[in-house]
Amino acid sequence: MMQQSLQSTDRGTPNSPRRFVSCLTAAFAAVSFGATAVQAEDMAVVVTIKPIHALVARVMGAVGEPKLLVGGTSSPHTYSLKPSDALALNRARLVFRISEDIEPFTRKIVAALPSSVKVVTLAEAPGVSLLEQRRGNTFETHHHAGEHHAGEGDHDHDHAEAKPVRDGHVWLDPNNGIAIVRHIARALKEAMPDQAATFDANAAAAIAEIEAAAKEIDAELASVKGRPFVVFHDAYQYFEERFGVPAAGAITISPDVQPSAKRLAEIRRKIKELNVRCVFAEPQFKSKLVTTVIEGTGAKAGTLDPEGASVEAGPQAYITLLKNLARGLTSCLGS
Ligand SMILES: [Zn+2]
Repeated sequence: MMQQSLQSTDRGTPNSPRRFVSCLTAAFAAVSFGATAVQAEDMAVVVTIKPIHALVARVMGAVGEPKLLVGGTSSPHTYSLKPSDALALNRARLVFRISEDIEPFTRKIVAALPSSVKVVTLAEAPGVSLLEQRRGNTFETHHHAGEHHAGEGDHDHDHAEAKPVRDGHVWLDPNNGIAIVRHIARALKEAMPDQAATFDANAAAAIAEIEAAAKEIDAELASVKGRPFVVFHDAYQYFEERFGVPAAGAITISPDVQPSAKRLAEIRRKIKELNVRCVFAEPQFKSKLVTTVIEGTGAKAGTLDPEGASVEAGPQAYITLLKNLARGLTSCLGS
């Protein structure tokens, strides 16, 4: 289901090959190759999304500044590549991304990049544990593909799909964050062996910071454990599992999938049935949906930011994002 919906967003995007080539040509013509551009190019590192851009920036330290593609309040689920992005990717030495599933905009371009560009897909890094994408809008009734439970008409569309879809939001488990840091250091050292000592030292410091943040979050969330909440899109299961704060459901599996009236009705039923305290929106999807689903239920609206849309890009963005999630949960669930 997620696969299908992501593929469908590929159709009719401005990234069709023909349009892409003409954009690229225009972008090349527009760039002035000054001295600073050449220096930056020496070790050009491009990163798709803010959480992993932060980790790459932290490991690179003073060696260089990685370029971020999905900046500001954009979402990787709905992002489309700009000509300047295509140019940066083509000139990069290293490209870091999570996976095709979380960054569908990388699917075509990565296949077309010159062999000089090394693409590191971090969801495949050693030590990163992957969870299967959850199905359905309320997870307690979710089941695996192929099983059938009578009366779950909501799941009918899932049965044809045999291949499990991995949930790409891997960075929301700090243990995965640590494995990602190690893999980033490995890739950077391979590309720039003379900076190996710096990358190792920065990676060790980054890992210590992540471990400390995880401890703080454990302590902060202790007071709200067991309080039911509903999230906007199903982004959080890595965070939920690591910190023991399971969501009761999600309004939509992915922000590019519009929830049906039936799904919204079931969410509203669950909110009342489970006495859900909070329904969390996201900063980049200021959706009326949350207001609609909480109306008359007694649940409050909160905000969670799984992709760091409201966080300033930079080496601290990863830890800020994790801490903000904890704060977002406690500030709504705790009051
Ligand atoms: Zn997401």
